[in-house]
Amino acid sequence: MLRDIDHFIGGDSFSSGERTGDVFDPNQGSVQARVRLGTAADLETAMEAARAAQPAWAATNPQRRARVMFAFKALVESHMDELAEILSSEHGKVIADSKGDIQRGLEVVEFSCGIPQVLKGEYTQGAGPGIDVYSLRQPLGIVAGITPFNFPAMIPMWMFATAIACGNAFILKPSERDPTVPVRLAELMKEAGLPDGILNVVHGDKEMVDAILDEEDIKAVSFVGSSDIAQYIYSRGTANGKRVQAFGGAKNHGIVMPDADLDQVVNDLAGAAFGSAGERCMALPVVVPVGDKTADALREKLIPAIESLRVGVSTDPDAHYGPVVNAAHKQRIETYIQMCIDEGGELVVDGRGFSLQGHEEGFFIGPTFFDRVQPHFESYRDEIFGPVLQMVRAQSFEDAVRLPSEHQYGNGVAIFTRNGHAAREFAARVNVGMVGINVPIPVPVAYHTFGGWKRSGFGDIDQHGPEGVRFWTKSKKITQRWPDGSVTGENAFVIPTMG
Ligand code: NAD
Repeated sequence: MLRDIDHFIGGDSFSSGERTGDVFDPNQGSVQARVRLGTAADLETAMEAARAAQPAWAATNPQRRARVMFAFKALVESHMDELAEILSSEHGKVIADSKGDIQRGLEVVEFSCGIPQVLKGEYTQGAGPGIDVYSLRQPLGIVAGITPFNFPAMIPMWMFATAIACGNAFILKPSERDPTVPVRLAELMKEAGLPDGILNVVHGDKEMVDAILDEEDIKAVSFVGSSDIAQYIYSRGTANGKRVQAFGGAKNHGIVMPDADLDQVVNDLAGAAFGSAGERCMALPVVVPVGDKTADALREKLIPAIESLRVGVSTDPDAHYGPVVNAAHKQRIETYIQMCIDEGGELVVDGRGFSLQGHEEGFFIGPTFFDRVQPHFESYRDEIFGPVLQMVRAQSFEDAVRLPSEHQYGNGVAIFTRNGHAAREFAARVNVGMVGINVPIPVPVAYHTFGGWKRSGFGDIDQHGPEGVRFWTKSKKITQRWPDGSVTGENAFVIPTMG
């Protein structure tokens, strides 16, 4: 009998409707649970719970709201093993990586514990005669987040921790491929003292997403996922008058300058290209050595490092990475490998046909490495999102700046060098949102912010930190005067100035 994964609405599990989706165990290649695929009517149930709860939550003082976040942080920490195990069993990433996924989300929860400080507005006394001006930030009301499969703990926490601490009620539509951890997080928020109806989890596919985009009372939508869907969410959400931020796919480049420490680069690249089976929006699936001498030396060191990677089940503590999320995604990655061969890429290490004893049906792909990939290849222009590293040889520093700058995606990029001037030039000129200097996965810390450019990000406001607070609130500007009773002789028909 398969486990059912229900919605979480008004502080309780909620089930309705017949439509369900399969949730796989990627290690075995079998179905382990069924998730509800909800409808507009299910969303309306969640909206009723949110409408009933949000005004009182917004009126709760920010210190009390912060206390819930403190308690939630402690609960997530004490449930770390349980959450990581569930996460790995549905996603396929190794347990240590699942803990990292949870931890990076918790860092935004930590930021939200300081919400009383962050929400303080600005004040000018005596901006004019007897006049003060101040500003404050107010919650939007009911808001929503739609999240991808690859970080089922981190990305929901990035969104709901800040939104809820700001005084909003939140509707979370997690990925239908690994939906259990988001529900567990909502249960822990309840245990931490969050009033029912402030965090609701609704499951589903396009039908539920469209219901969210068309729901008038949802004032803002944050989306993370692939670019075509991100663009669709942005267009439909903004056409309906919502505030929308929609983060999309990526194809991040790692530039290797001739003076780089190649042993360090190989170590960093192996983790950044193949960790989590390459299913990270901040992975480094493209390496760009500058000059053939650098390329040849790097290739020589990379091959044994790649061949010695251990692919295993997600509970194997020695595995570097586990299976990909499902059979369709495995098939898609293998199609891209074939495409790169057909386009003329040199297949140096072939990960296809990988089989793990006792887990022959699991969704595993061995590490794959191509050299001599050209910028016009479709397999280079598209995101593969698997354990595939493509080497594109650049002949100069200018080439190395141009390649990521001209790529359709602009999420992250890294440069490996010992030359401060080159690094500084690169960071200033490259047309990409997040830059690492000798840092392979430059995800900024929680109290900065996160967001890519070009087809990696639609909208104007980034993901968390102070930008997140801006996204989940609206600013009110108040100009006040408390007259003492004497009528001034000002000309009331002229636009007032403070002069
Ligand atoms: P996805 O686009 O398939 O799904 C994301 C969400 O959109 C899910 O909740 C899904 O249910 C929903 N969805 C899917 N198809 C839809 C449709 N036709 N209409 C409306 N909603 C739909 O993405 P995924 O495969 O779950 O995640 C991987 C992608 O996310 C990769 O492209 C990766 O680069 C990207 N990603 C980006 C970032 C970032 O910050 N830029 C972070 C993580 C992942």
